[in-house]
Amino acid sequence: MKHIVRSTLKHLSTISSGIGKQKKLLILIYHRVLDEPDFMRPGEVDKNVFTWHMELMSRYFNVLSLKDALKKADEDNLPPRAVCITFDDGYADNYLYALPILNKFGLEATFFIADGFLDGGIMWNDCVIEGVRNVQGDKLDLRDFKLGDFDISNDEKKARVAETILKTIKHCEPNQRKEYAEYFFSFIPKSASEIMLTTGQLRKLHESGMEIGGHTKTHPILATLTDAQANVEIKDNKQVLEGILETQINFFAYPNGKPEHDYLPEHVQMVKANNYQAALSTLWGVMDNNSDRLQLPRFTPWDSVPEKFMLRIANSYLSK
Ligand SMILES: [Zn+2]
Repeated sequence: MKHIVRSTLKHLSTISSGIGKQKKLLILIYHRVLDEPDFMRPGEVDKNVFTWHMELMSRYFNVLSLKDALKKADEDNLPPRAVCITFDDGYADNYLYALPILNKFGLEATFFIADGFLDGGIMWNDCVIEGVRNVQGDKLDLRDFKLGDFDISNDEKKARVAETILKTIKHCEPNQRKEYAEYFFSFIPKSASEIMLTTGQLRKLHESGMEIGGHTKTHPILATLTDAQANVEIKDNKQVLEGILETQINFFAYPNGKPEHDYLPEHVQMVKANNYQAALSTLWGVMDNNSDRLQLPRFTPWDSVPEKFMLRIANSYLSK
């Protein structure tokens, strides 16, 4: 690890000297920090990878809380290579594994929580992943659900089948998606379903100096809801989090987060009307002075080797 870091240093310093002059903010998105790599979740980092991500961040970038970063941006005073670290959804591993690593490097992050899953809830996508993982046998027959008949005879096939099903049902009507999720849930042992934060863990995250943001109550695709339903999702979530943490919740992240696809202009207005100071999408990019504070772009780090990770992050500051 150390020699790899050294070998990227020279290149980074060349890029950094160029990007240092620009007032830009890179906001990273994570969801989970796994105990160890998981073939069913190839897109998620584990403790080991997250540790070197954070080591590199603390060493070569200026990591700020979202609150401080936006304040500095208002004052036109962002440091060079400014970064915010964010987590979406509210997984227990954010408290169990991410927090100690963030603390080790003295970094603050913001956690966007869908409060409807606190204390034993499970999101539909996790029902699918854990369901496919735990189903017995080599075949998964979902012809009754009009999803097909799948070969799940090895780990690689299971991972691919889960991915296919997730893509197929992602934008289904919510009740239909719920029906699918309930079916998959029936295959999951209790221990594998307890993956979200408890209220106690959420409080401890907050007490440790981490920032907590809103992410709707049940993580719907806002664009599929009526205005009244969408407003309840946004409003209730904020009230519940403020009640638990006894503080004002100032930042919001749109579930799934693709503008025009997952949320619409009316949802941006709802977020504003609910007194959020800023909101984050998942549109790829870096924030600059022209960015809409209610639709800030983010960046998902997915590289598994430090050089590529550093290079892609450094290059992202050069993009619009
Ligand atoms: Zn989310």
